[in-house]
Formats: sequence, structure tokens, C-alpha cells
Amino acid sequence: MLYRELVEVYQDLDSTTKRLEKTAILANFLGKVGEEDPELLSTVTLLSLGRVFPTWSEEELGIGAKLLMKAISMVVGVSAEDVENQMRETGDIGKATEKLYHKKSQITLFTQPLSIEKVYQNLVKMSKISGKRAQFKKIDYLMELLSASSPTEAKYLTRTVLEELRVGVGEGTIRDAISQAFSIAPEVTERAHMLTNDMGLVAEVALAKGEEGLRELTLKPGKPVKPMLAQLSPGIKQSIEEMGWAICETKYDGIRVQIHRHEGKIDVFTRRLENIAHALPEISDYIQKSFPDQDFIVEGEIIASRDGKPISFQYMLQRVRRKYDIEKMVSKIPLTLYLFDLLYYQKPVLDEPLKKRRKKLESLVKTDPGKLELSTQVIVTPEEIEKANDLFEVSIKGGHEGIMIKDPNAPYMPGIRGKKMLKLKAEPETLDLVVLGGTYGTGKRAHLIGSYLMAIQDENNQLKPLAYAATGLDDNTLQELSDMVEPLIISKMGREVKIEPSIILEIAFSEIVESPESETGYSLRFPVVKRIRNDRGLDEIDTLERVESIFRQSQKS
Ligand code: AMP
Repeated sequence: MLYRELVEVYQDLDSTTKRLEKTAILANFLGKVGEEDPELLSTVTLLSLGRVFPTWSEEELGIGAKLLMKAISMVVGVSAEDVENQMRETGDIGKATEKLYHKKSQITLFTQPLSIEKVYQNLVKMSKISGKRAQFKKIDYLMELLSASSPTEAKYLTRTVLEELRVGVGEGTIRDAISQAFSIAPEVTERAHMLTNDMGLVAEVALAKGEEGLRELTLKPGKPVKPMLAQLSPGIKQSIEEMGWAICETKYDGIRVQIHRHEGKIDVFTRRLENIAHALPEISDYIQKSFPDQDFIVEGEIIASRDGKPISFQYMLQRVRRKYDIEKMVSKIPLTLYLFDLLYYQKPVLDEPLKKRRKKLESLVKTDPGKLELSTQVIVTPEEIEKANDLFEVSIKGGHEGIMIKDPNAPYMPGIRGKKMLKLKAEPETLDLVVLGGTYGTGKRAHLIGSYLMAIQDENNQLKPLAYAATGLDDNTLQELSDMVEPLIISKMGREVKIEPSIILEIAFSEIVESPESETGYSLRFPVVKRIRNDRGLDEIDTLERVESIFRQSQKS
């Protein structure tokens, strides 16, 4: 199938902001691919999302903007600076490339039309190149595609290479499109995706085996599943009364991990489904010592502590990102893993009620104080609410974040933020937003970005600017943030910079106010950067819906 056909779909998607229309466009195309070229369905599904690999995969293209701009300059026959200037002007690699291609239309581009297979194959080949001079070796494959592209094909190809397709299609839209194209109940598609994290596979099975086939897809050790998420508790008493009785646990402020053991290998996945086992060797060690030699999936939170008190969450993130001197770090500050759930033991157990999963977890694990423990928990009935209040107090005094209130009869619901797991924190609400731009400081801080333009996502997963947040960070973290931002700068104008959306920051604020002149209708009062959230992905930033709900809540109180 020709790449042009997919590109036409991208253009159609670009021409509307309405989610239902986008869904119909995609459903139509997926149905067509299913009929004409079913083997391509999985690839097309992923490419429609702007991805080459499923979410669980550790493969990545690893092509930086610099290399891409170089390839474009060589194909089009302009200087790298010309590409950079065009990029600065348009603020988008795709549009910049398209313009340059048009300007140079006399050059002999597109000898043979580009096929989707060819695009996919070359992208996969690029991802397989590693080691020294990898970037230079990748460029050949990239140039082969670029020189066979039309201006519009090049627009979307370059965006795909940088993993920022920007056609306003998120996982929700594609899930609905699969349901529509192959007549599947949306909740069945959703669950199959949450369990496999492979939209391509979901489309393929939907086409070949329908709803029944999708229901059979389940989790497998070695492939991470989307974690079950927590909603805010409206208050201890109300939450426990609504559940009938509840399991209350300490809420640890570390990083959430899903640990898989399969065929003797241990993987430690973050909530973004990244495998960080190599960075935390002591965790694999604890697990080896504490569990029987079976395949399983457990979940928990890892915190770093000193003298029994948790230390900064930022330290945990540094540990996770560390590539060298890992052993040195292991002995420096001990990590504690608090386990709180079991998803698989010899077979999937996620449909069993939490109370049973927890019992099973308790019977399997040999705890090791300070290293591997079970989350502290109490069972609370509506008659003994004080037990939950006491746990809250003890948890806060112990340096933790608050408590979780969980429905003992609930199954594990991957990727769902529902009422079966609630959180109650001592600190006021914050928002996780993505950096879109920034302003450099003045005087002594002229080399650092002093305030960041932060965006939220709307119901179509489109980013909308919400606030300029000042940095309430210490000098080290501020420097770290600047280092992260530097390679992502798209353009500079005076002290202002545009930044590629990738870095998530937690923003504290005094209140949310209505602001009719802003794009979202809301703004934040006194927004301040609280911390860098490397553990969150772009699809996990807060939504406009949540801003609205916090606003409504504040109007009530
Ligand atoms: P939040 O990140 O604020 O949405 O709160 C939910 C998070 O709390 C989960 O994703 C976990 O990372 C974390 N957490 C800490 N302790 C627990 C616990 N005992 N049970 C479940 N989640 C926990």
C-alpha cells in the first residue's frame, strides 16, 4: 500500500478538530486496510498514532532533530542553517520540511512511489543501529525515504521520525476507530489495549478474531500493563461508606513500579512502561531473594530513605536515570520497595478481588525490613473511621504523602482512573503539565530559563497553554532542568524560547480562576514549578477536564 494513502488520512485528520470525525476517518481507513492488506493493519494502526513500536516495546528510533535537519538539508540541497531557519519560522519540523521541498521542487525527488512497508522497514532498520557513529549510519536509511518523498509525505515522515505526528489522534481515538471499523464493543477494545499495550496487535486481533479473540488477550509477564490509577478521595468517611469497607494503605511518595519475573528474568517497569531494572540492581536482588522461582507480576512503590525517613522523590528519579557508577549509588542510599498488589502468579489474577490478591501476595513474599516490605495497611469499616484517620496521621508523620483507600472487592483495572482506588494527600492539589516554552531570566540568571510556559491536554489530546510558572526549584534542579530543555529548544526570539513538548513538570498553584481570554478558559494563580516528573509521559499530563473539576470543587467550598 502506498504511503501516500496514509498521508492523505493524516491530512484529513488535520483538517478537523472534532474527535468523532477523526474517529470516523480512521475507522474508514482501518477497515479498508483490513480488507485490502490485512498484514499491514498492525503497522498502519501504530503509524496512525505516530508510532513505530508498541508502547511496551523498548525499541526506539533514536534520531535527533539535528540529524534529521542534516538529512533534509542534503536531500533538498540547502544548508543546515536554512533548515534551522525554516524550522524557527514555522516552529514545526513537518511544515518546515514541506516548505523547503516546495521551494526546491525542481530537484528530482520521488523516483518510485513510497510504500508504507518501505517506510516501516527503514524505520525499524534505523532503530536497530546502535553504538558508535550510529547516528551517521542511520542517515542513509533516512535519506533513502526522504529522497523518495513528495513534499507532503516528507512533512509527515519527518514528524513521525521525531515522534510528534501532531494530527490530534490519541490512544482513545484510535481505540474507538478500531471498535467502529470491526464492530467491537469499545470497552472490549479498551481492555485489550490496557492489557497488551499494543494497539497494532489489538487491531489485528479485532479484524481476525473479533470480540472473542480480544477477550482472550491477557497480560503476560515480560510485557508491562497500564497501571490502575487513583482518583481523589472526597474525604475518608464518605469514601469508606461508599465502599462498604475499605483497605487503607500508606501512600508512599516514590516511583511506582510493576515488577515482572518471567523465565528467570526480572524486569522493573515504570508507569510509563520503561524498563529500569538495570538502574536499580538492588531491586532485582530483593525480588530474587523474596519470591519463589515462578513467573509473576507484582506492583509497588520504591522510595529512598535515610535513617528510616523517606528522602526526596527527585533523588529516586536521579537513580532511575543513572547510567554509570550504579553500584556506587546502591551502597550510598538504601531503597525500600513497598509491594501492594499482585497481578499474575502462574496465571493472571487481576480479575480476582483485591482482598484475595493481597492475601496471595502475603503468602508468597518473604519480607525483608528496610528492603522489601508490604505496604502498611489497615482494614476499615464505617464504624471505625478513626483507624483510617490514625493511619493518615502516622503516614504523614513518617514522611509519607497520605493514604490510599481501596475497594477490597475490586478487580485490578489496568489504565482506569476509577472510584475503586482513591488517594488522600496532606498537600493541596497540583497539576502535571508539559513545557511548551520559556523565558530566560535576567542578570545573574540570564543563562537559565526563569519561567516556563506550561500546557494541559484537552479531550482530543491537543496541548493548550495554561500558565507561565516560575521555578521554585533549587539551583541544582534548575540546572538539571535547563540541561534537559536545551536540546529540545525549537526556536529562540529574544529571551523567549519555544520548546518541544516532552518535559513534564508538577505545578503548584494557589487557585484556579476563570479566564475568558485564555484558550482554555482558565488560568492558575501563583503557579510555581514544584518538581520535574520524569516518571510521567506526555499522555499522562493533566486534562482540561481535571482543571474544570478542581475549579468546580473550589467553588463549592
Ligand atoms: P497520584 O500519583 O498522585 O495519582 O497517586 C497515585 C499513586 O500513588 C500511584 O500511582 C502510586 O505511584 C502511588 N502509591 C503510593 N503508595 C501506594 C499504595 N499503597 N497503593 C497504591 N498506590 C500507591
